[in-house]
Amino acid sequence: MKIAVIGSNMVDLVTYVNDMPKWGETLEAPSFSIGCGGKGANQAIAAAKLGADVMMISKVGDDLFADNTIANFSNFGVNNKYVKKVTGCSSGVAPIFVDQSAQNQILIIKGANNFLVSTDIDEAETDLKNCDVIVLQLEIPLNTVYYAIDFANKYNIPVILNPAPATTDLNIEYACRCDFFMPNESELAILTNLPVSTLEEIEYAANVLLQKGLKNIVVTLGSRGALWMTKDTKIHIPPTKVDAIDSSGAGDAFIGCFSHYLVKSGDVLTALKQASIFAAYSVTGRGTQSSYPDIEQFENFKT
Ligand code: ADP
Repeated sequence: MKIAVIGSNMVDLVTYVNDMPKWGETLEAPSFSIGCGGKGANQAIAAAKLGADVMMISKVGDDLFADNTIANFSNFGVNNKYVKKVTGCSSGVAPIFVDQSAQNQILIIKGANNFLVSTDIDEAETDLKNCDVIVLQLEIPLNTVYYAIDFANKYNIPVILNPAPATTDLNIEYACRCDFFMPNESELAILTNLPVSTLEEIEYAANVLLQKGLKNIVVTLGSRGALWMTKDTKIHIPPTKVDAIDSSGAGDAFIGCFSHYLVKSGDVLTALKQASIFAAYSVTGRGTQSSYPDIEQFENFKT
């Protein structure tokens, strides 16, 4: 059983702050750390930490971050055969600011991720066509995402699309050709231009997308858990109660874990419940990938 993630990698430059500086102001912050991140990479590593067989299709720059990112994939057992370097380009980087209440502000410089193109998918065809699920996000060019969806449809491979970061440029017809559409609340708000403050508003907005032809929508709701809706069903996945320290990468933890258990169990609800617990664990630790449990830590956390 194989998971293919076609998407981004970024280097997270995480600053823990008491306050954010105003323009022109300099402030001291208590601590800083560097970690491998990016939505695609995070999702791949979340699944790999659970023991999944994961293949990554991604681009890095030719800077000092590139080899580290490639090594990071192999350290977690992710197949990095299709992680290629782009010359004359920076790797993707994400300066992240985390405050004392675990809220984050994130800047994204996509760098080499902008150069992941359709021919990269063609080059991986022999391995990719034998995958059990393809996982996509929107930190790579939209045309590459569409090409990947066409590829998956051609070979009847299920697709999970995480429409993040959200853009209204996303062609909803392509979203409808994916099996699972998985935004968080703010992405849902951007995609529908509707309010999402209450559960009722979230359900309404999700329903608007379902009416356009989506098969399954899963909205992650932070500390409120997640909501799975089809045209006929609505199931709330309850949150796991934890003391949150840093919520960055929680959505990616959820999606990576979901893809693993979806392939493993074939049961959506089972996969969603596991994902909710796994993502809750991830907010109890700092960073993104470094906050994800391995299979042993995950099993201990559940008991
Ligand atoms: P994103 O990282 O994309 O903003 P969310 O904040 O919606 O995603 O979080 C993804 C998932 O992580 C949620 O659906 C939930 O399962 C879990 N999660 C996030 N924050 C918490 C929390 N404070 N307590 C428990 N679970 C959480």
